[in-house]
Amino acid sequence: MGYADFAAYKLEPEMARNAATVEELLMQVWEPAVARAHLDAEAFTRALHADGVNGALEPWDWRFYAERRRRAEHDIDEAEVKPYLTLDAMIGAVFDTANRLFGLEMREFEAPLWAPEARAWEVTRGGKLMAIFVGDFFARPSKRSGAWCSSLQQQDKIGAGQRAIVTNICNFTPPETAGAPAYLSWDDAHTLFHEFGHALHHILSDVTWPSMSGTSVARDFVELPSQLYEHWLEQPEVLDRHARHAETGAPLPADLRDRIIAAGNADQGFATTEYLESALVDIAFHQGSPSADPMAKQAEVLDRLGAPAAIPMRHATPHFSHVFSGDGYSSGYYSYMWSEVMDADAFEAFRETGDVFDPATAARLEEWILSKGDSRPADELWLKFRERKPGFTLC
Ligand SMILES: [Zn+2]
Repeated sequence: MGYADFAAYKLEPEMARNAATVEELLMQVWEPAVARAHLDAEAFTRALHADGVNGALEPWDWRFYAERRRRAEHDIDEAEVKPYLTLDAMIGAVFDTANRLFGLEMREFEAPLWAPEARAWEVTRGGKLMAIFVGDFFARPSKRSGAWCSSLQQQDKIGAGQRAIVTNICNFTPPETAGAPAYLSWDDAHTLFHEFGHALHHILSDVTWPSMSGTSVARDFVELPSQLYEHWLEQPEVLDRHARHAETGAPLPADLRDRIIAAGNADQGFATTEYLESALVDIAFHQGSPSADPMAKQAEVLDRLGAPAAIPMRHATPHFSHVFSGDGYSSGYYSYMWSEVMDADAFEAFRETGDVFDPATAARLEEWILSKGDSRPADELWLKFRERKPGFTLC
């Protein structure tokens, strides 16, 4: 078909466009991740020797000492956090953030839905209908596991046009008794923000064709709105306003808040390094002509990277099913990190202004990312929003 190799064929419709761009971005993250991992490796090796075990730090030692450090530094009692994270309080945080950024107003209304606990809201701005949002939050028998966002109707501007009907489906634990509050874990609260970030892509969509509307975008672009939206959950001003004790109404103590956020960043040197090893091996496999000996190729790539011996690939080649059981993630395993770099960089655009709710930045985000669907190439949309390629500066 005229492509140099499989990666060239696969990446053409993606935001990254080609393997060189993917590698450039991954290597930007590789250097600091591996530097962090080496520091951790030294600390764990000292602990290993102090425990009377001679020799090098092995992969199984890493798990053991990382868990010991997590317990010492980030042991958070879930029961202590729980009363502050009720579903209603967190829905309030999600909607308030959408109101402060995009002026959206939510009004719950009675709608004939598929389950008694599903809820519907009319989303308006300045009195104009923007979308219908349906939240079906609780686990129940027969429901598929996980959390996702989809639409019952896509926005379009054909004829009189139509607004989206968008759903967020989750599997949170229902309240113990009817009428009692439902409590979320910190991960659940992230999920709630994440899925609503996808919902915003539908709610603010403003394109002609339904096939290009909302989240119908390139795979390495679709997680940008959702992962970006999660950042607002971690803002002290959002938590202080909304994460209030279910019984006393007291705000989440600042110390506990800071510890929850810090725990999310624990052992990132390891997590990022093992992920990047897999992503870089994937993209190497799919360039040039296929290797006669995949394990030799894998070893060659890891060797060239200087991968730490105590951190094996997250998915070594023989069980790398993302890449080899189907076509979904072949030369595409990078897309998780690609989205993460973009969401961090996009949130940085807000932070740089000194206001995480900066109206001008929010207006640009809506104009160039959230309203455009797939009506223009993702890399062009990003450039319009950020005025440079995705990346980051180390501080
Ligand atoms: Zn998502």
